[in-house]
Amino acid sequence: MRIVMKFGGTSVGSADAIRRVVEIVRRVSQEHQVVVVVSAMSSPDLRTTNALIEAAAAAASGDDDVTEDIFPRLIEMHMQVARSLATPVECQSLEPELRARFEYISELLRSIAVLGELTPRGLDLISGQGEHCNARLIAACMRSEALHAEAVDATDLIVTDECYGNASPLMDETHHRSQRHLVPMMERGCVPVVTGFVGATRAGVPTTLGRGGSDYTCAILGAVLDADEVWFWKEVDGVMTADPRIVPGARTLPALSYTEMTEMAYYGANVLHPRTVYPLIQRNIPIRILNTFRPEHPGTTISADAVSGPVKAVTAIKEVSVITVGGPGMLGLTGIAARIFGAVARAGVNTLLISQASSEQSICLVVLRRNAGAAVSELRRELAVDLSHHDVEHVEVQEPAAIVAVVGSGMRGTPGIAGRACGALGKAGINIIAIAQGSTEYNISLVVDGKDADLAVRVIHDAFDPGSEVR
Ligand code: ADP
Ligand code: ASP
Ligand code: MG
Repeated sequence: MRIVMKFGGTSVGSADAIRRVVEIVRRVSQEHQVVVVVSAMSSPDLRTTNALIEAAAAAASGDDDVTEDIFPRLIEMHMQVARSLATPVECQSLEPELRARFEYISELLRSIAVLGELTPRGLDLISGQGEHCNARLIAACMRSEALHAEAVDATDLIVTDECYGNASPLMDETHHRSQRHLVPMMERGCVPVVTGFVGATRAGVPTTLGRGGSDYTCAILGAVLDADEVWFWKEVDGVMTADPRIVPGARTLPALSYTEMTEMAYYGANVLHPRTVYPLIQRNIPIRILNTFRPEHPGTTISADAVSGPVKAVTAIKEVSVITVGGPGMLGLTGIAARIFGAVARAGVNTLLISQASSEQSICLVVLRRNAGAAVSELRRELAVDLSHHDVEHVEVQEPAAIVAVVGSGMRGTPGIAGRACGALGKAGINIIAIAQGSTEYNISLVVDGKDADLAVRVIHDAFDPGSEVR
């Protein structure tokens, strides 16, 4: 089999974790062709990507000494692992490489501080450096254990558009480059250790695939390399019925359909980057979510097969804003919805949820809180005349809010799901601001006040007790 597998930040966050990673790759690569994708190191007190983004932001606000404290700590974190897992020869070649890389970023940050401006393009170049360092470190640790491994920069493989900060792959070029680069490596028994999260435009300018994007890198490579399976190694026993940090009693789901996983990821289960599943659905490649720290646990398998059980999971997206456009004159105003959504799209804002009552006197849409300002400005511009004529009375924002979603393909045609979810919220004294259900019936979304988000997830989870039927 050909398996593309990704290790997330916590799975590569310490010497102990990386030792486990090397062991897993050794075991699997004895029987299969393996491509490894790695995130940046993330330890509880130093999250590489966050630290790089904070350094860039500090430089943009004029602080040109920002690197003095943080870069030596980042180099030390990587070198500490190297000293405990890699041979002295590997350490000797890794250390100057890391130092040169951080020196280069320091220079870049100094110029950002002088200019006082950080472009999305500059930020991508900086924020992706953690993956470059870590791929080199992990490949060195593997070689030190007599595994044939080489670091590969995804900037040479994944060709993207120019949407800095949230780039999308150009699949044909990515297919061509990845095949040309990685297949010969695998055929000579070498394990490519590829940087997650990053890509580059056709002109070679570095981009990133969005926060948490190493998952997406793994899926893209799985698709273009025609993998038999794609595995994601995390710090949890698979996909669970809710975020275990919010619901301690959440259970692992042994199996999920692609659609269910897509809905969960989109609606806040940040166990997988929301765009991860898509490239794999088209090629019907099975996905597994496994635990780096308990590799014997079967985890979750995600495939096209439908799995029984009406409700699979409860998820939440926090830090959202509810924008309500309302007024008596909206009654029957043809084309108002198109104008509203057109304005939000022009602001470059993604709408997460839409709800409209049948009186048509108000339309409510939910967007990420960080995007609300831009969406509202554009709406006010679009509706200026209607507002002055009082056809539209208000464009109101309610925040912070949260979307709580009940997900499961078996909900389709099962009566009473929405009633039970709303009943559970009512009993807990939680007010529902808006509610939406798509006609596919894979998801019911309830909008609540942000302060009620965790409690809402817990009481709805209790009401359905998802995953109990598989025990
Ligand atoms: P990685 O760094 O490996 O990509 P993430 O931290 O991005 O891992 O994702 C795993 C985390 O997602 C878990 O630690 C867990 O807290 C959180 N999570 C949220 N919802 C779920 C869920 N339904 N199932 C499993 N984990 C979840
Ligand atoms: N390191 C990147 C991030 O923290 C990508 C990832 O971990 O998936 O967002
Ligand atoms: Mg992640």
